[in-house]
Amino acid sequence: MRETNRFRHKRASRPTGRLSDPEGIVRVRSTGMLVDWGCYGAVLFDLDGVITPTATVHEQAWAVLFADFDFTMADYLAYVDGRPRYDGVRSFLTSRHVELPDGEPSDLPGDSTICAMGNRKNVLFNEIIERDGIEPYQGSILVLDLLDQLGTPQAIVSSSKNARTVLAAAGLGDRFDHIVDGVRVVDEGLAGKPAPDMFLRGAELVGVDPDRCIVVEDAVSGVEAGAAGNFGFVLGIDRGDHADSLRQAGADLVVRDLSETVRTT
Ligand SMILES: [Mg+2]
Repeated sequence: MRETNRFRHKRASRPTGRLSDPEGIVRVRSTGMLVDWGCYGAVLFDLDGVITPTATVHEQAWAVLFADFDFTMADYLAYVDGRPRYDGVRSFLTSRHVELPDGEPSDLPGDSTICAMGNRKNVLFNEIIERDGIEPYQGSILVLDLLDQLGTPQAIVSSSKNARTVLAAAGLGDRFDHIVDGVRVVDEGLAGKPAPDMFLRGAELVGVDPDRCIVVEDAVSGVEAGAAGNFGFVLGIDRGDHADSLRQAGADLVVRDLSETVRTT
């Protein structure tokens, strides 16, 4: 299995779900300069690459899956990032002029169908996260703490069927009341990103109109979903080098990390 230091994550050795204690020793405030968090009714967060650095774990799993195709970071961003898993397999293989039958979601992990390959990718992902663990971005935890202090509802809106596993591995298993994940997408027949349906469902769950919600996304497909849903503010997180793509997709603002939007006292 290909592995580089870039992909390694230390297993969290302490609870990482909250930086500030109930006494408010660490106070987090909105800078009000970039994003005025207090002006919106709810915040809908993508998970991978926004709350946790799972994007690198996903990229590693995709790279192992597509080892025979010289899979690159550019391929990851263009064809699979933020998309439902089977759509990602199909999208990438199409780029290499490879056709496979769709198969069925119940297909065993393998390489004979789109679904079999997607299922194998999921096995690889879970192997990596169980081996290495995951630590959330501390800048994102600061914003979650601020939103808690403001009493602002939050939801996770992730295409991943592993969202709950990832949140638990990051010490955030009890942090979110509402999760729209890949499992709910299937159960409720929701369209995946870049369609706005998943974020609209998140807004519905937190009980806030979309135009009063902030969408936080690191993927082009997710920013497109936020823009298509006419949400109040779409905040792009550029973890790589694709800020321009995020802006073109409809991001109102692009930052490199959520810590840029708050200050601590
Ligand atoms: Mg993401």
